[in-house]
Amino acid sequence: MNKSELVFIPCPALSHLIPTIETAKLLLLRDNRLSATVFLPPHIYVIDTIAETYVETTSSNPTFSSRLKFIRLPPIQHSNKHFFEHYNVQIPNVRREISNLLTNEQNPRLAAIVLDIFCVGLVSVAAEFGLPAYLFFTGGATCLGIYQHFVSLRFDRDEDVTRYKNTEVDLPVPCFSLPVPAKVLPMMTVDETSPPGIFLTHFKMFSEVKGILINTFYDMEPYAVESLLSDDKTPEIYPVGPVLKVESKWFAEDDDVKKWLDDQPENSVVFLCFGSLGIFGEEQVREIAKGLENSGTRFLWSLRKSYNPKIERERSEYFEGFSERTKGFGRVMEWAPQAAVLAHPAVGGFVSHCGWNSTLESVWFGVPMATFPMHAEQQLNAFYLVKEMGMAEAITLDYQMDFTGEKPPESVGWEVIAGGIRRLMEEEGGSGVRRKVEEMRKKAREALVEGGSSYNALTRFIEDVMTNVD
Ligand code: UDP
Repeated sequence: MNKSELVFIPCPALSHLIPTIETAKLLLLRDNRLSATVFLPPHIYVIDTIAETYVETTSSNPTFSSRLKFIRLPPIQHSNKHFFEHYNVQIPNVRREISNLLTNEQNPRLAAIVLDIFCVGLVSVAAEFGLPAYLFFTGGATCLGIYQHFVSLRFDRDEDVTRYKNTEVDLPVPCFSLPVPAKVLPMMTVDETSPPGIFLTHFKMFSEVKGILINTFYDMEPYAVESLLSDDKTPEIYPVGPVLKVESKWFAEDDDVKKWLDDQPENSVVFLCFGSLGIFGEEQVREIAKGLENSGTRFLWSLRKSYNPKIERERSEYFEGFSERTKGFGRVMEWAPQAAVLAHPAVGGFVSHCGWNSTLESVWFGVPMATFPMHAEQQLNAFYLVKEMGMAEAITLDYQMDFTGEKPPESVGWEVIAGGIRRLMEEEGGSGVRRKVEEMRKKAREALVEGGSSYNALTRFIEDVMTNVD
């Protein structure tokens, strides 16, 4: 039996790390010739404690322990603040660890290196050792299609892509059937100011890998998958998703919020959660609170703390009255066990920032979303879900956080929020979104079982990887 090993290098943030490692686990379960070593780069700003706990639990899981190993890459001091550089400086560490694996005679033969998109700069190390590199793309196929298109505009056609920034134009793009408004494009495709060209220069390296695993499934994005398949600049693609960690547990068996949810009627509660980073400005927090109060809907709101103690004090004063007024029909908590909440029968709608993991989780549990994107590629996901697929209600499609603090976004008003929630929670979900999400829920599950599209894509990937060591 030809034993082979894959090296995974994920970005250590929760929403990239978990699907990458869950994919590694899936591969090991599917084929016992495979083992995996995960190189863990240091955290960028702060330690992601949830990601850390996840790594600890996974590495002590006896099902995988002998075939799934973790190697922590030590931090390297550098002055360039851009996060691509944070991974690029790891080249000497990665080179050393790969060399150790190759020279260790006990180790299975290395078949490939699988990189996160933010670690794509490490593709050069794979080339040095003559190892094939693959990408694990944690977003959707539509998002990958947009990155590929903008790389082509920028480098093949020498276009100044920054001219689309903050404009009202609609652009025809190969991976969407509808023209895409410039306002929903990921900022990293059109804003090349900090530092110039950094994203597209890195995304251009996608063409250097042998294949791209995508956390999606064919029926979720058929148009984009077909367009990537027919694009000769895009390497082989493997839509293997949804790969999720959905067995998320409540924090305790007698969890107070869970007990409250248990007492609510089926599909009566709207859940609000805005991803791992979802911090809003105070004005927006109050508009959401007022929107909830006026929607007349039961709610569970996962609200991140502000880092500013003064704001936190003012907020807790405001929230005293809010909690009093919404007592019995609403709950606010900080970090929520999102998958467990979405799996609860009382939860009938999800106001989401449209991060790709959250999108897939909403589909997996058949809970329709109302869109409230904040950053990264979330506006594009929101547009896709609402306009192209008719699978979500819109609260906003183009709300955009500004991390420079120069141009804070205009708050979405409480009336818009309350209206969106009411439409979402109607029995059929406004324009039938509940039925469409339910259909997609079934297709997501079918994709993963034997003979399903994602199951077959994973088989193709394994076969390809095995040819690397033949
Ligand atoms: N999540 C959670 N509880 C929270 C917020 C987020 O469990 O209060 C999980 C969520 O289930 C998802 C991930 O964190 O798996 C967020 O990933 P996503 O891609 O949706 O957004 P990002 O964090 O990258 O903005």
